[in-house]
Amino acid sequence: MSKKVLDFGIDKALNILGILPENAGTSTGEEQFSNGSVIRSLSPVDGQLIAKVKTTTKADYDVVMETATSAFKIWRKIPAPQRGEIVRQFADKLREKKEALGKLVSYEMGKSYQEGLGEVQEMIDICDFAVGLSRQLHGLTMHSERPGHRMYEQYHPLGVVGIISAFNFPVAVWAWNTALAWVCGDVCVWKPSEKTPLCGIACHNIAAQVFAENNLPEGISCLINGDAKVGAFMTKDTRIPLISATGSTKMGKTVAQEVAARLGKSLLELGGNNAIIVTPDADVKMTVIGAVFGAVGTAGQRCTSTRRLIIHESVYDKIIAAVVEAYKQLRIGNPLDENNHVGPIIDTDAVKMYTKALKQVVKEGGHVLVEGGVISGEGFESACYVKPAIVAVEPHFKMVQQETFAPILYVMKYRGDVENALDIQNSVAQGLSSAIMTNNLREAERFLSVEGSDCGIANVNIGTSGAEIGGAFGGEKETGGGRESGSDAWKVYMRRQTNTINYTTELPLAQGIKFDID
Ligand code: NAD
Repeated sequence: MSKKVLDFGIDKALNILGILPENAGTSTGEEQFSNGSVIRSLSPVDGQLIAKVKTTTKADYDVVMETATSAFKIWRKIPAPQRGEIVRQFADKLREKKEALGKLVSYEMGKSYQEGLGEVQEMIDICDFAVGLSRQLHGLTMHSERPGHRMYEQYHPLGVVGIISAFNFPVAVWAWNTALAWVCGDVCVWKPSEKTPLCGIACHNIAAQVFAENNLPEGISCLINGDAKVGAFMTKDTRIPLISATGSTKMGKTVAQEVAARLGKSLLELGGNNAIIVTPDADVKMTVIGAVFGAVGTAGQRCTSTRRLIIHESVYDKIIAAVVEAYKQLRIGNPLDENNHVGPIIDTDAVKMYTKALKQVVKEGGHVLVEGGVISGEGFESACYVKPAIVAVEPHFKMVQQETFAPILYVMKYRGDVENALDIQNSVAQGLSSAIMTNNLREAERFLSVEGSDCGIANVNIGTSGAEIGGAFGGEKETGGGRESGSDAWKVYMRRQTNTINYTTELPLAQGIKFDID
């Protein structure tokens, strides 16, 4: 490992998180996983091998499912507020290990250390939310139309929830799902991204410690490792009533069909193609901050990253000049060094996709305003560092319709009213995050109206990137329609039951039907 990384203490972080690089196992012990192939976890920061992780075989998976299914029988009987107490203890453990886990997130995924810490904080926040929620899993009481009857609805846990997550939020997305699922009385089986398996093991170890300290079965939180094939064990498994899958639209289309074929439920959080509309009344400084952070933060690898800037022609030159100037000040380099703004992208396949997208958009007629390219040489210890690029385009270009998971910002003009900008914004297949920069109340309300943004997230004078845990998170169209995290997203992790109790000595039949028997 490089000196810089050792200085940063990644070895110490792994140690605190209970990961022995020589011997990274999975949830129920390495010996049970000895037939699986191996994932090599390489850091995009410096290209070093961090650890090897064994993948889960079908036989191993069945053992995990038995463990989870029997844990559910115990967990579902524990009152929800007591389950909340376990989640509170889990959040406390995260607070203790925040620095170590934040370091691992940064080193294994490549986002800045600050963002790594931010991700762990999101886990803590959703746990706090779930603790409160554990006393509020309530249904409604209705008036029955029949005398002497009481009618109400209640929510019961679903069972085993399968979680499939993406590399870019290697720990937070699991926590958004699992903290809610746990207080709802479900147990979880998690398959993290094969690109960030150590983050999965670290979280699993923290959770396992809490369950052990409370004499609760470890199966409440299970971990499996591997790629799409291992994910498919879960999507095809009728023992799993809900699959929550986060990742590309391509993955979501397969998962949705497999889960639907067995009439299971799926919660899909898929790709975005997020735009900021910049109107003539926009605050230039706020627009530049929102656009630049949105486009280059996490090296353009957030589902909510800003991919498109749709700028009114009257302010186009002014906004472009300011954004291009801001790009000149970006420092690209090791994300563990807090002076850098932009770290590496996840791997060399992602670099190839970035390079191909830039070539393709130029071929379509795109005009490069800030040149991209792969960076090598001193200070760039892996082949995963690329320059954030800006390309002027026409909205209909093929590449502009797609999500390229890298720091490429497409800029385009709109003319006339904000309706024209909305037509461009809504013309893509994805519907995750959107924003408008304006000080004009009419434009802002129009953007938020029924004829406005068709996305799951619509912000005014805030960029597209990121979201607070208190709101329901997710998007429409090819983003998959799922909602997780705050608001009433918990309902997807439970089954609703309507109960009617007759406390009379009569049994009136519906629709006035008489059914006389002595
Ligand atoms: P990916 O689709 O390559 O992989 C995501 C996960 O799905 C991985 O764990 C992978 O092993 C698994 N998987 C892939 N195919 C599968 C299949 N057929 N069956 C079962 N599991 C399968 O995505 P990625 O490259 O890790 O992440 C980037 C993508 O995720 C981007 O498109 C991004 O927008 C999206 N994302 C969306 C959200 C959101 O909340 N909407 C959040 C984060 C990331």
